[in-house]
Amino acid sequence: MIIQPKIRGFICTTAHPEGCAKNVTEQVDYVAGKGRFSGPKNVLVIGASTGYGLASAITAMFGANANVIGIFFEKVADDKRTASPGWYNMAAFEELARRQGHYFKGINGDAFSNEIKKQAAELIRRDLKQVDLVIYSLASPRRIHPETGEIFTSSLKPIGKPFTGKTVDAFKGEVKEVTIEPATEKDIEHTVAVMGGDDWERWMDYLLQENLLSNGVKTVAYSYLGPQLTHAIYKEGTIGRAKVHLKATADHLTKKLAGLHGEALVSVQKAVVTQASAAIPVVPLYISILFKVMKEKGLHEGCIEQIYRLFTMYLYASQPAKRDGEGYARLDDWEMRDDVQAAVTSLWPQVTTENLAALTDVEGYRNDFYRLFGFNMEGINYDQEVDPMVEMESVK
Ligand code: NAD
Repeated sequence: MIIQPKIRGFICTTAHPEGCAKNVTEQVDYVAGKGRFSGPKNVLVIGASTGYGLASAITAMFGANANVIGIFFEKVADDKRTASPGWYNMAAFEELARRQGHYFKGINGDAFSNEIKKQAAELIRRDLKQVDLVIYSLASPRRIHPETGEIFTSSLKPIGKPFTGKTVDAFKGEVKEVTIEPATEKDIEHTVAVMGGDDWERWMDYLLQENLLSNGVKTVAYSYLGPQLTHAIYKEGTIGRAKVHLKATADHLTKKLAGLHGEALVSVQKAVVTQASAAIPVVPLYISILFKVMKEKGLHEGCIEQIYRLFTMYLYASQPAKRDGEGYARLDDWEMRDDVQAAVTSLWPQVTTENLAALTDVEGYRNDFYRLFGFNMEGINYDQEVDPMVEMESVK
């Protein structure tokens, strides 16, 4: 099959196995180039196949020599469709782990379900006995409640009043205005059910009950706060409510883990291009401007740089960096720097369709987006036939 990108709205419906493998290899090389650090031994990553979860799995294994079990929800290829990029990423990760003699097992299925939690518990008990780090990095549009079967759908809406603001169609290169109607109470409740902390707590409760967490266990989930420009749609919108719930869950979990001297932490990450962030109105334009400013200042980072800093500055540092007043780790420190935000705020009102390419890094945004699906990778010939059927030994 010759595999080329097929963009539909804010997703790409194809993925390139070799390009995805290259993307994973580059992240592994980044971590290897930084050198080993003393970190976790046995790690469970829930949402391991793309974005921040993938970077967490890579940093734990190739930075700290950890054994990794990864949970993800990806599509395998068939005769008409390629697999989803996370599948190819995990296949490449598995192969790199095997070559370098590391332990990796993957579970492909719905992490919100009791069945997948049970499978993960059995695997931990059999192979690792206990885990000392649990990364919770799910981003999902929906969740089926494991007890009631109710289906929750998350939304990205403002709360209280409609929001009108600028956004970009990065592929058409058009800056336009969008108006998004405010969320209903049901929208808020559903978004909190999908992206809040309820499922994280269920995972931790279950692992604790099954005696699968080791002394000093840490668990981390990721959040975003962002600047005023995005507050109506993010921090003060439905997703922001879910993130408040996530933080309250962390504080609650820390108490539950006290007996193990454990801790639950929410880490605030910077805005990066992932499948999850591409779906949020306004954010792609904000990221395009932010990238321009941060690249000019030599501060640009992607998922892997962010997670490497999280592990080495906060989670496993001999003298961990200080949390903020609310107890968050702040990996968005460079994004939120006054000089960075002042530059973004001054560019924001000036950007139009005509000057988009000059005033923003929309090119960098698009490039990162293609790379999520294994396209635009140097050294890959996209006109050549490639087999989309990639198997993973550790995933049945
Ligand atoms: P992503 O879309 O790249 O990754 C999501 C992961 O969740 C994938 O591994 C996917 O397979 C998995 N997943 C989704 N539904 C699942 C299910 N039902 N069962 C099992 N696995 C499932 O997302 P991301 O951007 O890396 O987001 C991860 C976390 O980081 C989220 O909490 C997000 O809010 C947060 N975050 C993202 C950004 C950003 O700019 N992208 C910034 C700060 C924080």
